[in-house]
Amino acid sequence: MKTIPEYQELFKKGEITPTGLLTNCLKKINPSLNAYITVTEELARKGLKKDSKGKLRGIPIAVKDNINIKGVPTTCASNVLKGFIPPFSATVIERIEKNGGIFIGKTNLDEFGMGSSTERSYYGPTKNPFDETKVPGGSSGGSAAAVSSGSAVISLGSDTGGSVRQPASYCGLVGLKPTYGRVSRYGLVAFGSSLDQIGIIGRNSVDVGIMLEVIAGYDPKDSTSSKKEIDDYSDLNEVSKNIKIGIPEEYFKHIDPGVHSSVMEIKRRIEKEGISFKSVSLPTTGYIIPTYQVISYAEASSNLARYDGVRYGLRKNGESFHDTIRKSRDAGFLPEVKRRILVGTFVLSSEAIAEYYERADLIRRLITQEFNEVFREVDYLLTPATPTPAFPIGERTDDPIRMHVPDRMTAGANLAGLPAVVAPAGMIGNLPIGYQIIGKPFDEKGILSIVRLVEKMAPFEGFLKEVRDE
Ligand code: GLN
Repeated sequence: MKTIPEYQELFKKGEITPTGLLTNCLKKINPSLNAYITVTEELARKGLKKDSKGKLRGIPIAVKDNINIKGVPTTCASNVLKGFIPPFSATVIERIEKNGGIFIGKTNLDEFGMGSSTERSYYGPTKNPFDETKVPGGSSGGSAAAVSSGSAVISLGSDTGGSVRQPASYCGLVGLKPTYGRVSRYGLVAFGSSLDQIGIIGRNSVDVGIMLEVIAGYDPKDSTSSKKEIDDYSDLNEVSKNIKIGIPEEYFKHIDPGVHSSVMEIKRRIEKEGISFKSVSLPTTGYIIPTYQVISYAEASSNLARYDGVRYGLRKNGESFHDTIRKSRDAGFLPEVKRRILVGTFVLSSEAIAEYYERADLIRRLITQEFNEVFREVDYLLTPATPTPAFPIGERTDDPIRMHVPDRMTAGANLAGLPAVVAPAGMIGNLPIGYQIIGKPFDEKGILSIVRLVEKMAPFEGFLKEVRDE
């Protein structure tokens, strides 16, 4: 398993060429996984011709298909965007290009990012590279399957309630959701604007840190992006012994016993480094899923109102203006997105807003306050990433509530705007499982450094090698 700096070293010595690496990655695209909606070989080769000295020179990168690359279709895995070719690139894409990164393709997702399994795509489900009968997690499942199967060195996803971290957990990878405002959302198709962040899925913390260094920072095109200076995320080697890590008891209930013991093993190992732990309580954890549902559906219903068959995307002509909109939207969206638009419209309606949306907004503030209070006692939180390993394809597609269950571990960080990272904790049978570190706002360096500490532990290196060797 090579890191990005190791590839750069090999390029310098001439032991591998960027063209050779790209060819290898292209060969590893496995059609049966269905990780890609569009493969952009030509764009990647064009990228190689640019003579860059950047941190990502010659590194093949996969991009979730809700992030715009100029001139390449953006589908959001939806029929409603059929034929849409964005005339501009997302800020993150421009920054990667400036640093010499090359784009190998656009990856599959749950339509508009709404799901936990990458099964609800107009382009069919993505499969887990460890076991093709299992889901890769969602909604950035294509981005995780691409990295896990070796067709990309690193990828971008988006995380509204856990969509970068859940697939990282199920596919044996490191997945980072940065603090709200750390990374520009300009050019990311909006789902829940107060929750969305572009995230990174990589094979190790070093690669994720380098990518974060490239994409993070203020962007005048996104008014919610922060002006706070970015840290040096490529140096993750220092973790102070004085930090304290909290174990929130609520996160360890209703989880697979194998998940419990894997995360406890991570705790034991970190403890051996002289770092202390403390039990803490986050009593509002049980409200995370309903609160997340109300807020994200409300925002989605508003954000998705623009797909009307008039301005762009799919159009089905009807008998009147309204009939055209109705027919276009009916033909354009899959059932889960329609369900969320209906529920979201309801919770914002005048008869329901006080009881649903406003109440959820209030509970969101309580959840945030509770995190803030706990972060006065401890510096980080260690939790499971998902309650179970990857589940079978088809198991939850008819049960939207059960599909939301893994969000209990992840959506709290979105509601409170906190940075969180998932990394491999071990294997349960043939399936990987992750742990999660949640940090204080803008402490991406701290959470990634803890992951780095764990990665360096023997025999953990061996496990990681087994999980993700090329
Ligand atoms: N699983 C969550 C949902 O279904 C999270 C999605 C996401 O983060 N984009 O909404």
